[in-house]
Amino acid sequence: MTVNSRVVIIGAGVAGIRAAKDLPRRIRKPDWDIVLIDQNNYHQYLYRIHEVCNMEYDQKDITVPIARLIDGEKVEFKKAVVTNVDTKRKVVVTETGEEPYDILIVTLGSHPAYFNIPGIRDNSLTLGSFSEAQIVRERIHALLEKSEKRGKAPEIIVGGAGFTGIELTGELTDSLLIWYKEHRIPTPETIVTVVEAMPTILPGWKEELTAEGRKILEGRGVRFYFSDPVVKVGENTLELKSGEVLKPDLFIWTGGVAGDPVCGTDFEIRSRRITIDEYCRARGYEDIFVAGDMACTTNSEGIPQPPTAHIAMVQGDIIARNVAAMINGGEMTKYEFMRAGEIVTLGRTNAIGDLFGLHFSGALAKLMKKFIHLWYVNSIGGLGLLKDS
Ligand code: NAD
Repeated sequence: MTVNSRVVIIGAGVAGIRAAKDLPRRIRKPDWDIVLIDQNNYHQYLYRIHEVCNMEYDQKDITVPIARLIDGEKVEFKKAVVTNVDTKRKVVVTETGEEPYDILIVTLGSHPAYFNIPGIRDNSLTLGSFSEAQIVRERIHALLEKSEKRGKAPEIIVGGAGFTGIELTGELTDSLLIWYKEHRIPTPETIVTVVEAMPTILPGWKEELTAEGRKILEGRGVRFYFSDPVVKVGENTLELKSGEVLKPDLFIWTGGVAGDPVCGTDFEIRSRRITIDEYCRARGYEDIFVAGDMACTTNSEGIPQPPTAHIAMVQGDIIARNVAAMINGGEMTKYEFMRAGEIVTLGRTNAIGDLFGLHFSGALAKLMKKFIHLWYVNSIGGLGLLKDS
């Protein structure tokens, strides 16, 4: 019996799903199998994960079964937790066994970066997945019950005013104001406190947008600490560099992300991610492609860029083409960094955005974010999935 060659994709995030959908129609050799491995049997709309915290959303709004997205006849899905990649033996090690590969696509996403801050890992919640967001939601719910009895609102602190921190804060301020009324908890002056190491929210973004976002959030009772990084975290204490000690009932850490640590040792790492060549291959490897949050994507000047869902999508598509070119024969396509921009939501009805150099805010920006989501849903699941969204 001849054994087929294998393309193994680890991670069913944006890049992994795009590659898994596109590869079967591109590979023209029948003796190749495609295997997709993920710890969950669903794909997550991670860019909407902060919305889970406001209690109106359920798993079906934020996730979609992988079986609905891939052609099961052509792509074999395996639910397993990847623990290592052994590049010498060319196997993916999972908690339940080993999966040999001939070509590997690494798209495992990211994990919170803790920057060795003492106590932070044990005393904070994070927002990296649907289940983590559910835990935040449950903890807030429990705090509201407690606060109702003691008649005092909880102290909720968000660490890091980057994209995740600001979207979460927008969501929380919207919802908390309603929940306090429902629970008959007196509305405090500060609804959410945000601690940021840099002098602004959304560091690196256009100043006019960050100023607008800050004003909107401050108007809803957000208190910011700027240029004052978190340096130590205890069970109910948060120490800042300035020496100030805050006392959170709930601390959510949104201070940054790093590529999944699984593949740490075998690859060249830069900015907490795997460096890639112009074809999205891990530097130094002909048979391993990397995309999305795990890849250190650089601009034309070689400067690492923050990961976005758009970058992951483009890289997933290019990798599908390049893997097919390796198998069928043909030219590989170069990845060229292009920044489309971002929209940052500020709760249920508001957002600020910078897309292709144009600035948007308010309900229009929020509507555009919704439209981009529907466009993405259509791109991975077609009209059938779109109609259920
Ligand atoms: P991030 O790196 O964008 O932001 C982290 C923030 O935490 C930064 O502002 C940083 O200065 C701050 N920080 C770091 N250490 C700190 C400390 N000790 N104390 C206080 N503050 C500290 O990370 P993120 O917000 O998790 O986003 C991760 C990636 O996901 C980003 O690259 C982003 O592009 C992407 N993302 C995009 C969107 C969107 O486009 N709407 C939404 C969410 C995430």
